[in-house]
Parts: sequence; C-alpha cells; structure tokens
Amino acid sequence: MSRSASGSSPVGHPGPRRDPVPVPRLPVPSSGTTAATLLLNATYEPLCVVSSRRAIVLVLAEKAVPVDAAAEVVHAERVSLPVPVVVRLTRYVRVPYPAQVPLSRRAVFTRDGQTCVYCGSSATSIDHVVPRSRGGTHTWDNVVAACRKCNHTKADRSLAELGWKLPHPPRTPSGAAWRLLGARTVDPRWREWLGVPESVSA
Ligand SMILES: [Zn+2]
Repeated sequence: MSRSASGSSPVGHPGPRRDPVPVPRLPVPSSGTTAATLLLNATYEPLCVVSSRRAIVLVLAEKAVPVDAAAEVVHAERVSLPVPVVVRLTRYVRVPYPAQVPLSRRAVFTRDGQTCVYCGSSATSIDHVVPRSRGGTHTWDNVVAACRKCNHTKADRSLAELGWKLPHPPRTPSGAAWRLLGARTVDPRWREWLGVPESVSA
C-alpha cells in the first residue's frame, strides 16, 4: 500500500502554520511504515490526513494527543515518541462540511464495500432499487452497488416481484470520513475511526 507523506493542508486547519516547537526529523520509514497520520477532532470525529511530521509537531505543541502509534520511535530535542498513526486534537475545531456527499459511482461503491448488495460478489454497476422506469429516483436511498448478473436479472422488476431483499436500506453517507475516503489510500489502522466497511479501499 502506498501512502502519501505530503499531508495536504486540511480544511479547518487546527492551528497556526508556524509552531514554536522545533520540527523533528523522522526516521527513514521501513517498508509498511506510515508517513501519514489521521487527525481526529477533540470529539474523535475524523478531520483529515496530515503528514506524520505535522502530527508530531501538533503533539509536541500539546495541540494533539496520540491515539494510536506505530512501533517506530522518533527522537526530537529532549523527547522520544512513537510515530503517531492517529492523533486527536486537544481542542475542538469547527469544520464546515458539505450538506450532502455528492452521488457518484465511486461513492456508492465505497458505501457498499465494492460488493453487490444482492449477492455479495464484486460490484460492477449501479442499480436503482426502484427502477427508473417505475419512477425510481437517482438518489442515495435508491441506488446500490450491484454485479452485472444481478443487475441484468433484476432488470425492470421490483424487489417484491423477485423475492429479493436488501441487507439494509441504502443510506445517505455524511460526515468527514467520506471526504477522506474520496481522497486517498486508507491506512487499515484508521478504519475503526472512519467507520467504513473492511473491504473499502479508497
Ligand atoms: Zn450480484
């Protein structure tokens, strides 16, 4: 899994760019070592991904506390600390989010774990639960990820006619986790904070 070390600047940046704390030099990562850190709000809500270097600066400035860390240790000035995988801000920051996550094929696949909601095989298409020919809307609560076979079999019929059932009603995703998923590779150690299915790879 490749990871970006760039750690683009988040919306709702948690603090001033220039910190009084000296920036430590990170050890050269061995393969599989994260160079990116998931930043959580004080409320544990995922905010954004920052570089591990930036996360360490936040921790040293006492603007954030480590939540999960890698085995590697970084040495800075008078302190040594494990390279943080997840950090949490000590103070809550308000971040405006879009009212609704845009409906896209990629986003639907992500929500449904890249699998067909009807049979569990790999999803290759988008299905309208209530067919569009019957007035079904192209909205989050009426679209699901499906395989070609199920989509073809279902055609213009309703679930009741087929005797098919959805595992759960299609929901509209919201919150920061979805913004993060659209952007980059997800470190498996972030998953419990992002609240996404195991099979998701953004
Ligand atoms: Zn299927």
